[in-house]
Amino acid sequence: MKKRKKERNQIAMNRKDNHMEKVILIVEDNLKNLKLFKDLLKAWGYTTLEALDGKQGVELAKTKMPDLILMDIQMPVMDGIEATKILKNDTETKDIPIVALTSYVMVGDEERIRAAGCDGYISKPIDIHELRKTIENYLPK
Ligand code: MN
Repeated sequence: MKKRKKERNQIAMNRKDNHMEKVILIVEDNLKNLKLFKDLLKAWGYTTLEALDGKQGVELAKTKMPDLILMDIQMPVMDGIEATKILKNDTETKDIPIVALTSYVMVGDEERIRAAGCDGYISKPIDIHELRKTIENYLPK
């Protein structure tokens, strides 16, 4: 357990030392959206990781320590709310910014998303400029 943590910290440190591009984890079950986000992020110079549900997202976040996570809310296996709660309750992953992607915003949804620990959220269909600005805003400098 200790060794794994040390290795992960080393991965994060090497990335900073080398000033390599930022890594963004996309957690999204809709393949069309996933491809759109991936293409946009790559065009903006980010490295991407992809997960198709919350459970995969949590596992990837813990092993790869991305710089930011784009988290869909409605997903099979484990939804984005549950995945966010797990990551925000883990001392190793709690500081990774999470931006929620919501298909519709109902009354109370923003509160539910914030309560889970998401740092920000974007409503789908996404506005490309808003997506870019939000990512830049939440990425650690
Ligand atoms: Mn979804």
